[in-house]
Amino acid sequence: MNRIFFRFFVLVMLSITAATFVIYLAISRLFGDPVEDIARRQAAAPIVLLQDYVDQAGADEWLTRLNKVREVSEVRYDLIDLDEARHSVAPGQVADLERGDVVLVPGEKTLYRRVDLKGERYIGSDHDVIRASNLPIDLGVPVKMEIVRFVIVALALLAPIALWSRSHWQGLQALSRVADEIGAGKLTARARMKPSASIYPLAERINDMAGRIQSLLESQRNLLHSVSHELRTPIARLEFGMELLAAQADDPALKKRVAAMEADLAELNSLVNELLGMARLDSVQSLQLAPFAVAPMLRECVDALPPSAHSVECSADDSLGSVDADRRLLARAVGNLVRNAQKYATRRIALSASRPAAGGLEIVVEDDGPGIPPEERERIFEPFYRLDRSRDRATGGFGLGLSIAHKAVALHGGSLRVEDALLGGARFVVTLPPERVL
Ligand code: ADP
Repeated sequence: MNRIFFRFFVLVMLSITAATFVIYLAISRLFGDPVEDIARRQAAAPIVLLQDYVDQAGADEWLTRLNKVREVSEVRYDLIDLDEARHSVAPGQVADLERGDVVLVPGEKTLYRRVDLKGERYIGSDHDVIRASNLPIDLGVPVKMEIVRFVIVALALLAPIALWSRSHWQGLQALSRVADEIGAGKLTARARMKPSASIYPLAERINDMAGRIQSLLESQRNLLHSVSHELRTPIARLEFGMELLAAQADDPALKKRVAAMEADLAELNSLVNELLGMARLDSVQSLQLAPFAVAPMLRECVDALPPSAHSVECSADDSLGSVDADRRLLARAVGNLVRNAQKYATRRIALSASRPAAGGLEIVVEDDGPGIPPEERERIFEPFYRLDRSRDRATGGFGLGLSIAHKAVALHGGSLRVEDALLGGARFVVTLPPERVL
């Protein structure tokens, strides 16, 4: 927001500067250069002396008068050649010089004037120019006056602009806060603004949009929750029925088939449980925040793993300190990542955590498995998304594990990303923001 104001400020200053130059050029063209005008007034005495005293003298007296003036004046008078004078004045002033006008060069405090156009004063004088230097010209005060005028105009313009953009700025800040809150999952956030505020219509639209998103997400969550919930009872009844059937079946072929059906039911049951878990993960309010030590939580995640051929190298010591987070949820996220690593690793799995210099906490799960191709690294966090190779039931789950981990970390204001591991496989990095770390 400050950037907008700054850019606006620079734009206004540039416009004022440009306007000042245009005014100067226009006035110079229409009424003559104002700087030269000031200089001419300051150098009025030597000019009058030249024009009315020296120049009015007769041919025999002309040089005498000039010398007299030289004696009494601080100004230096020299006679120089017309060609030299032509080079000393600006190209636009050469014609004036040749015509016999007084030509001023204010920056050099010097004026030039042709002495005698017809060569009547003394021999060769038609090629002489009188140069008066060290004139009493001081442009400091007029320049300072111009600067003061410029500053006053700039302030007079900037003050209302600052007031005007302040009201917008505050409103826009309120809107960006609301957008941040909605993005972080607080769907009840709304922009409160007076109807007289200039961006009130925009705030109204954002509020409407937030309302619609909230109701859409709520109905989606309710649907997911209700369907999963409603499925539980028939699944429980089916499980009970299957157990009875298995107990009563004598035929080994039937027993085998019932066992297979029981396995399918167990799978269905765990899918429903996962879905219910996901549905609960959609709002920040569901978080149960409390401080806890990180290292023991990570060690517990490793201990809770199902038995597997690969052991996990866990490097988490007590110097990691504590975080203020939902322990159960974070453990679930890390657990999902380590379980995936177990599924896909060839031999090695490493779980580690550190506190980066920039603050916060990083938990890293690496393995030496096939890894995740770069083009899939965004999509694998979507619900039900699985890579083709895991679609065979040997390794694949429902494709919900990473999505749940991602949501759990995002609810804490953190992020979950995947990259190449030094071990050769996938490297999942959970980052918790500094405000979560104690
Ligand atoms: P699933 O329950 O199928 O494991 P996930 O959401 O946990 O679902 O993972 C999604 C997909 O990401 C998996 O099907 C798998 O293809 C891939 N994946 C997850 N973790 C790893 C890993 N450590 N190494 C390689 N691929 C992985």
